[in-house]
Amino acid sequence: NVSEASAGAILTIDLNAIRENYRRLKTKLGKARCAGVVKADAYGLDAAQVAPALAKEGCDAFFVAHVDEGMALRGALGPVPKIYVLNGSPPGAEAECTAHRLVPVINSLEQLEAWRQTAKTRDKKLPAVIQVDSGMSRLGMAPVEVERLAADLDALEGISIDLVMSHLACADEPDNPANPLQRRNFETLRAKLPSAPASFANSSGIFLGSDYHYDLARPGVALYGVNPTPGHPNPMLPVVSLSAKVIQTRELTGDTGVGYGHSFRTREPLVAATISLGYADGWQRRTAGAAFFKGIRLPFAGRVSMDSIILDVSALPPGTLKAGDLVDLIGKEQTVDEVAAIAGTIGYEVLTGFGKRFHRRYI
Ligand code: PLP
Repeated sequence: NVSEASAGAILTIDLNAIRENYRRLKTKLGKARCAGVVKADAYGLDAAQVAPALAKEGCDAFFVAHVDEGMALRGALGPVPKIYVLNGSPPGAEAECTAHRLVPVINSLEQLEAWRQTAKTRDKKLPAVIQVDSGMSRLGMAPVEVERLAADLDALEGISIDLVMSHLACADEPDNPANPLQRRNFETLRAKLPSAPASFANSSGIFLGSDYHYDLARPGVALYGVNPTPGHPNPMLPVVSLSAKVIQTRELTGDTGVGYGHSFRTREPLVAATISLGYADGWQRRTAGAAFFKGIRLPFAGRVSMDSIILDVSALPPGTLKAGDLVDLIGKEQTVDEVAAIAGTIGYEVLTGFGKRFHRRYI
């Protein structure tokens, strides 16, 4: 972690809010179990911090995308929790999976055959998740592959099925007819396979209703406070706040060019403050927004640079801001979802885009 004194910006991650969000999702789920999706280093928030916090709430199943993420997580969580690898094992990585007790999500008959060969060398059955493609067309066995597997269940020799799962493409749009269609496809496909617990819902899927819950839900983004169903009130607690330090302030006369390309020109005298955060920290150039100081909005003046942003701080009483003061970019006044909307992207991309130069404070 970068020291607080030397960092240009401070990212605060509220682990208690993550735990509260987990409890809220569990309440919504009722009887169904709730896993934690902590791939991409818990959406950029550090899986080694987030996963143990979830484990304290009773979360005992975690999903990562890559084998190496699973190996790191095993180190952070110890031997007990289930760790599922969504992309499955790349050819040749099966031994690393077994060594760290990672359970691959089997997305194809090819992955299944490699896992069966691995299982052959063991005296105990090896667990696996079978993913079927119910309509997202991204990962998982296509209906023809499911048919082939159903006709030759020997392909599962030595393997125990922990879960049959699928993933929703349009769950963040509650009225999208693709949702019930995928659900019917999932029903049809899993009926062809040996009976096993089912997993279907991501964060937004949980809010589609109990028909979508099955045995184990797989929320990610909602745990991190991002609204799972944009356009509807956010049922989650905010998790992340971001503040950047003022480097220097200056007084500009009217008709002065500001920043790269002089894309901004002052119309009248203006007080500018340059803050220590830029696109190298994940604040994309097109996120031409504002920062806040004690609730007062300070619009960006000119383009976002690699390591800095110039603010128009004329709204503050003269001399208010000094070098080292913190202005807020994400927090009470501006949520991750709002920053994403300004950038024309999604909260997932804002979180996973945060760079390595922040001081990270876990509370
Ligand atoms: N399940 C799968 C297969 C995923 O790929 C993801 C993430 O994209 C999730 C669950 C978690 O999704 P979300 O962050 O929307 O809850």
